[in-house]
Amino acid sequence: MTYDFDLFVIGGGSGGVRCARIAAGHGARVAVAEERFWGGTCVNVGCVPKKLFVMAAEYGNSAADAKGFGWNLGPATHDWSALIGEKNVEIARLNGIYVKLLTGVGITIFEKKAVFIDPHTLDVGGERVTAERIVIATGGRPVMPPFVGAEHVIVSDDAFFLKQFPKRVVLLGGGYISVEFAGIFQGLGAQVDLVMRQKLPLRGFDEDLRTGLAEELTNSGIRLHAEVAVREVTARGDIKTVHLADGTTIEADLCFAAIGRAPYVAGLGLDNAGVAIDAKGAVTVDTTSATNVAHIYAIGDVTDRLNLTPVAIAEGHSLAEALYGNGPRHWDLERVATGVFSSPPIGTVGLTEAQAAARGPADIYLSRFTPMRHTLTGRARKTLVKLVVDQATQRVLGAHKLGDDAPEIIQGISIAINCGAAKADFDRTVGVHPTAAEEFVTLRTRTRVAGG
Ligand code: NDP
Repeated sequence: MTYDFDLFVIGGGSGGVRCARIAAGHGARVAVAEERFWGGTCVNVGCVPKKLFVMAAEYGNSAADAKGFGWNLGPATHDWSALIGEKNVEIARLNGIYVKLLTGVGITIFEKKAVFIDPHTLDVGGERVTAERIVIATGGRPVMPPFVGAEHVIVSDDAFFLKQFPKRVVLLGGGYISVEFAGIFQGLGAQVDLVMRQKLPLRGFDEDLRTGLAEELTNSGIRLHAEVAVREVTARGDIKTVHLADGTTIEADLCFAAIGRAPYVAGLGLDNAGVAIDAKGAVTVDTTSATNVAHIYAIGDVTDRLNLTPVAIAEGHSLAEALYGNGPRHWDLERVATGVFSSPPIGTVGLTEAQAAARGPADIYLSRFTPMRHTLTGRARKTLVKLVVDQATQRVLGAHKLGDDAPEIIQGISIAINCGAAKADFDRTVGVHPTAAEEFVTLRTRTRVAGG
């Protein structure tokens, strides 16, 4: 049977676009359907605009800190609508680049939703299209909160288009998005309350990072409400009231729920193709991104593996190489570094102290110090640098940093860790002075032994 396309990718986000481009580069006849915006979550309502917002907030902090260096800048004011306008221009530019990247290599694009009719046929905005192979790359969507009054709450998709800057913000959740937006709103001048059901933010991260971040958030003026659930949100005009289970009420101009994201499979017609999903709605795949249907694959957040943009890109690239190139390309998905763009940010790679301790004795090296910048600014801010080392082999299993530029620094450290570097390799590396990063190669004295 001949098909309209060799490969049809559903979803024009980071993973889908990479998969399509690599396949087309190997000569496949490829189409991509995108129903919302080119570049997906990362480009439109995720990593990219979030980082621009983080930068905007950092300017505010820097303006305040500059006084310690002799600057007299006068009172700083921020124009929220100017930021949104500039951000929208940049995102539109990126949308255009994505389209060019696809069409430039001969890929057919559909700005429509694609729905399975059968395992080889899709309805794409009313048009029947067939493909030999199909990749599902539809990503995820924010989870809506379950409590009464959820209609008064926004999610991250909305946060990038707020017409007015909220003076008082309540963030719900203690994950990536909540701590990142806490820093954004606080840095831009809002009073921020963060409500989480754990004792500390960022469950799953190293405990020292979690404790350190909680202290930094508190020091910056963010009010943390730990180990408490939201009972209800009510609204009176534009004012929202968040009612917590412990009886506390918080008034705000904006209530923002960041309680996770779920795979986006709604209306895809997966049943028509016989594609299996798990209890969370994620498309079930094996390590090669193959679903239970021989010629249908899934990559990125819709599979709910490691929900990070570079991982989706790696999965898409590897799949396209496996299907049309010289075999799958290998990425080490065991030790993926990640950054949290909180204020201050986090960079982390490899095992946490608790994970390492569960495997056997681990040597822990930890340093906490005032970074040079803040010796003059007077801002109460500490940097934390930590190495987790397997005691038996002396291999570095994990590296963690809380402090300025941590995500930038951890990228380099992650190469060493992926190469299997031992503590002695870090020790024989001469530092770059004066930097915070040099602390990773000057940690001489073991702080403690964990596990074993
Ligand atoms: P996360 O999964 O990171 O965190 C969700 C948070 O919400 C947790 O604190 C969780 O608590 C809490 N939560 C979940 N359900 C409820 C509930 N019913 N009531 C109260 N609290 C609840 O989700 P995010 O929304 O922050 O981010 C989604 C994903 O997007 C991330 O996991 C990450 O994969 C990706 N992301 C990555 C970024 C980066 O790389 N810098 C930035 C932003 C997002 P508990 O811990 O108790 O479960």
